[in-house]
Amino acid sequence: MMSTFLSLNHLHKRFGELSVLKDLCLEIGEGEIVVLLGPSGSGKTTLLRSLAGFETLTAGSLQVAGEEISALPANRRNFGMVFQHYALFPHLTVGQNVAFGLEARNLPKAEVAARVGEVLPLVDLAGFEERRIHQISGGQQQRVALARALAPEPRVLLLDEPLSNLDPALRKKTRRQLKKLIRNVGITALWVTHEQEEAFYIGDRVALLNEGRLEQVGTPEQLYLEPASRFVAEFVGRASALSGVLQTDAKTVEIEKVRGYGQPVAWMGRQGSPDDSGKVIEPGDRVALIIRPEGLAFADGSEGDALNGEIAERQFAGEATFYRVELAIGGEVWVRGGEDAGRVGDHVWVRLASQGPLPRIYAADQDRVE
Ligand code: ADP
Ligand code: MG
Repeated sequence: MMSTFLSLNHLHKRFGELSVLKDLCLEIGEGEIVVLLGPSGSGKTTLLRSLAGFETLTAGSLQVAGEEISALPANRRNFGMVFQHYALFPHLTVGQNVAFGLEARNLPKAEVAARVGEVLPLVDLAGFEERRIHQISGGQQQRVALARALAPEPRVLLLDEPLSNLDPALRKKTRRQLKKLIRNVGITALWVTHEQEEAFYIGDRVALLNEGRLEQVGTPEQLYLEPASRFVAEFVGRASALSGVLQTDAKTVEIEKVRGYGQPVAWMGRQGSPDDSGKVIEPGDRVALIIRPEGLAFADGSEGDALNGEIAERQFAGEATFYRVELAIGGEVWVRGGEDAGRVGDHVWVRLASQGPLPRIYAADQDRVE
């Protein structure tokens, strides 16, 4: 683990009665790119604005390179920010837009010009000084916004859904460019998005926010393969949930019959450590079994504790095909299969895949106690 550069300690933010950030702790290493991922309304923008100093935290402390900054005003924190909407001045040139953050600091003109000349090549826009904003593409505009944020040599870069204004075709190309540029500059960055695929592509680590609380911080692999909660398992990638009762071995779950026909089966799962979800699960408890599509396979018949059902939907996704199977005992699961594993309406058997990731076991009632 690299040494911590930006440290968020027990941050709380309230707007009146509304608690938007709840005891949030996160450490970001020097030069690390961490992605803050979460659904709309989970508090991502509020966190970025609080870090930049545009919002006052209700409680908590914030350090950059060991220096406490939570009492500093925004202009003395030296954080660079790239917003969801570029917030560029359309009537100014690229150079004037990049210079904007520098002029606010009353630097001499020559120094401003020199810095603009330095920073534009960093975002692959050398020679674009005189262009007007409306003469360049959306992807280039977002790079101008990045250049403007980088011009004052900030200590930390904060990006709030920087790709959301771009059409989908441009998004992948631009995210690749932005990631490379941020890496080259070597700046410590916190990048906000609500899109899991973007988060996995950009982040060295991903911090998953849910209703103002960090559910898990880890590499994309950790979030996908070892989700710390049911929320993480279902937010990241595809997952199906079946409920059942935990058996005495503490790792087998007898799947519950919801509709009351078909054979009940016992499927093996894996529990996280009890503190993952904050709840200890014991044999006899009702639990949720969260299963990845690649953790399931089609079976020839009822052998190997297979469940029967009917294919209700087929999704061809290029590198794999996913089948939604409505189970006879009730509930449904997504199964990854070959391109021609079946058609909608086919009667099939589904079992745990011999090679796939084991289902995860969580407490059935995930309501957190505050
Ligand atoms: P996100 O960026 O993840 O979509 P936000 O940080 O914008 O989420 O908002 C989180 C919650 O805080 C929402 O419920 C939102 O309505 C509320 N909120 C944000 N800003 C304010 C504000 N200035 N006053 C009151 N409530 C706010
Ligand atoms: Mg937001």
